Amino acid sequence: MDTSWMSEARSSTPFLKGLGEFLDLECKNNASASGEIKCPCIDCTNSVWMTREKATEHIICNGFMKGYNTSNLEVRKEVARVGIWGTKSKGSEHNRWSFLLENNHKLKKITIDHGDLIYSLTYTTEDGRGCLHDSEKAGGWNGGCTVCEVTFDVDEEIIGIDGTVGVSAGDYPGYTIISSLSFLTNKRTHGPFGKATGTPFAVPWNKGSFAGFYGLAGYYIDGIGVYLKTSQETARVGLWGTESSTGPQYRWSFCLEKNHKLTKITIDHGDMISFLIFTSEDCMGSVHVSNKAGGYNDGSTISEVNLSWDEEIIGINGTLGVSSGTHTGKTISSLSFVTNKRNHGPFGSATGTRFSVPWSKGSFAGFYGIASYYIDGIGVYLRATT
Ligand SMILES: [Zn+2]
Repeated sequence: MDTSWMSEARSSTPFLKGLGEFLDLECKNNASASGEIKCPCIDCTNSVWMTREKATEHIICNGFMKGYNTSNLEVRKEVARVGIWGTKSKGSEHNRWSFLLENNHKLKKITIDHGDLIYSLTYTTEDGRGCLHDSEKAGGWNGGCTVCEVTFDVDEEIIGIDGTVGVSAGDYPGYTIISSLSFLTNKRTHGPFGKATGTPFAVPWNKGSFAGFYGLAGYYIDGIGVYLKTSQETARVGLWGTESSTGPQYRWSFCLEKNHKLTKITIDHGDMISFLIFTSEDCMGSVHVSNKAGGYNDGSTISEVNLSWDEEIIGINGTLGVSSGTHTGKTISSLSFVTNKRNHGPFGSATGTRFSVPWSKGSFAGFYGIASYYIDGIGVYLRATT
């Protein structure tokens, strides 16, 4: 997005035109369920939700907040959101938190206040000139317990998180919260912090993709999601599954082209997922069928997931199990496709380790993975939602 208008006089035509386009994008990508956006004016500092009309008035009267500049806009344009794990509601405005790594900043430190669950998270970044910046603390309204610091090496980068979603006890019982959390980097695993109770989740991604975290918080961290950079068109989330060094594995990939719509997924499954075929339709109504992924051996049942014109995949759930019979090894034992309308599946048999990956509507761009006799691994392509 061209941002030269931001330095023009706030009553000028270029500024008003640019502001209009900017707010169009904000309403499209970052609006709340009730259609409100965060006002980036000096007073609201991008932390108060309001209508577009009100935000327009604020920005014209007060001006943009300090530091709200090209890099913010550029960063926001290029991220996809994965998650959220934990409390899934949109939450009220004072519960939402967001940490977005600015261009030329490096994540230096995460400060974690935890006990049997995660109380709060604070992020410290270093800019190109070596200055440190602390984020607002997310959560921990009533203090916490044990404060730990994770400090990252210069060449260290987060490439995944895993954790558990549990239920709070103690002073504020009964909330769905993040009970434990680990940060995986290209060098080591930091954590787990908290106490692993409840349902586990694990989200790996590619090196170079990390752009921040977001979520919901109050007394505790209630939910966490991940911002991923999509600078090369798409970001890759995953892989769930294991690459074997001996087997006859190969890589498969289905990338939805722009202006194509996924209309059907064909799944051959028995106790495992044997193969997947993706059918899409372009804007002229022509049908495109992908190559078959997996399926050196056929399964027992072929199912079809048909997606209606206004239906879109917003997550997958599945399990990673071990195949029995002639071809043993870790494979995807079951798979469900979650759309904005319903849940399709599970296909296969739910045995082994669960995984669950929700993402924002408008982000889905395809699947990829590894396969041999079965689908041995699956990951997701996501695009920025602009
Ligand atoms: Zn404002």
